[in-house]
Amino acid sequence: MMSTSEIPQLHVMFLPFLGLGHMIPTLDMAKLFGARGVKTTIVTTPVNSPVFSKAIQRISKDLGVQIGIKIINFPCAEAGLPDGCENINAIPKGETNTEMTINFLKALSMLQEPVEQLLSECKPNCLVADMFFTWANKSASKFGIPRLLFNGSCSFYLCTTACMMMYEPYKHVSSDSEPFVVPGLPGDIKLTKKQLPEFMLSNDDDNEFAKLLKKTNEEDLKSYGVVVNSFYELEPTYADYCRNVLRKRTWHIGPLSLCNKNFEDKALRGKQASIDENECLKWLNSKKPDSVVYICFGSGANFNSDQLMELAMGIEASGQDFIWVVRKDHDKKVEDIGNEQDWLPEGFEKRMEGKGLIIRGWAPQVLILEHGSIGGMLTHCGWNSTIEGVTAGVPMVTWPLFADQFYNEKLVTQDLKIGVGVGVQEMITNMGVSVVKREAIEKALKEITVGDGAEEMKKRAKGLGLMARRAVEEGGSSSSDLNALIEELSSLSQLKQ
Ligand code: UDP
Repeated sequence: MMSTSEIPQLHVMFLPFLGLGHMIPTLDMAKLFGARGVKTTIVTTPVNSPVFSKAIQRISKDLGVQIGIKIINFPCAEAGLPDGCENINAIPKGETNTEMTINFLKALSMLQEPVEQLLSECKPNCLVADMFFTWANKSASKFGIPRLLFNGSCSFYLCTTACMMMYEPYKHVSSDSEPFVVPGLPGDIKLTKKQLPEFMLSNDDDNEFAKLLKKTNEEDLKSYGVVVNSFYELEPTYADYCRNVLRKRTWHIGPLSLCNKNFEDKALRGKQASIDENECLKWLNSKKPDSVVYICFGSGANFNSDQLMELAMGIEASGQDFIWVVRKDHDKKVEDIGNEQDWLPEGFEKRMEGKGLIIRGWAPQVLILEHGSIGGMLTHCGWNSTIEGVTAGVPMVTWPLFADQFYNEKLVTQDLKIGVGVGVQEMITNMGVSVVKREAIEKALKEITVGDGAEEMKKRAKGLGLMARRAVEEGGSSSSDLNALIEELSSLSQLKQ
């Protein structure tokens, strides 16, 4: 038997998907493992490296946690992408850009060789690779190490996807908008065909993206297990279903955002904020508790002028105080959002002075959400934003756009009952269209703040927020799950010695 000093340090390598919604939680994960004495290395590409390297410097200085970073080239030219197009957020969403998306995926598949080179040099004991790296199971097994999958979502998503693929209920409806109950899935969750991720509906041959997503689901079953940015108490039925019925090995180790304890880590999460964080907090300090709605659509979605105009009018009509994070048309830089006439009603900012704050670009989301003045959230239901909203203990207006967001909406509105939908009926394939009208926005905002059911929703949301914090404390469910995972990986790596 080896003495503790002889046991080699466990080394986990992280390979995040190149999109902010995946890179941000991966850095949080590396930090959590690092804080427990695990050696960690993040693999990324030159353009994406600043997102990690700046934070890594801070973490090392403030917490004494060292996170390694390895940079591999991203084959833009070979994959037919413009130079520097190394992040999915740089690709405009919408039908016209399918080719670019496919080329991006092609580039991801070309990373297998350099990643295997790194595995051979660094000899980690485990590879935590994002679901989009469909070759990662093979690579890990070449080096005799487990591959853990990270898909940036929750157990509810894993269960819903599995049931949809198993029973294909959408094949038995008479129209795209006819609601059906997801068979096999606890909770009588209702969806329509129009809300399903594209890959479910298309045939293998007609869409590269669909093919890749189908493959990710197959690989998911072959991986050693799945690390989930969620906590058991949030979705016990689905966590159990995943483990006991679907036989997936899952570790719930979230909410990951809660590993950011100090001001700077929260303020500079992801990107440099486009507003002075202290000014933002000062503004929030001037507001009553639970009185401000935070409105944001994640790191990738940008609306056109018409949709922004409807949103502005809906917000104004709701009478709510707000912080609104705006990004407009993908091809424009933040500095060029300028021309307000184009997307704001005349005199809007003047009328809203003191009542609302518009952040053009990037907001310090976690810092804002945890302020006591925030009493609600309007979200696109990206999983990170959803769980950050849950952690903040606030009710939500849900406005899903694409990918897993409709599933997340159902968890919030139908299962947790801490939010109301703004009424989006279908997946958006073209961000150039305006779909949600001002009246619907006004109605939904009022429902979560002053409506008949608002108090109940707030109470439930606050309860979940408390549970989220307890889960990551010592002895809490997520903290224990992470300890168990680290222990298991350590024993596996010792068996290999
Ligand atoms: N985020 C942020 N400021 C912004 C927009 C987003 O800090 O202005 C963070 C947010 O806190 C979350 C992530 O970016 O952690 C977005 O992930 P999510 O899954 O919600 O959406 P996606 O960007 O993947 O659509």
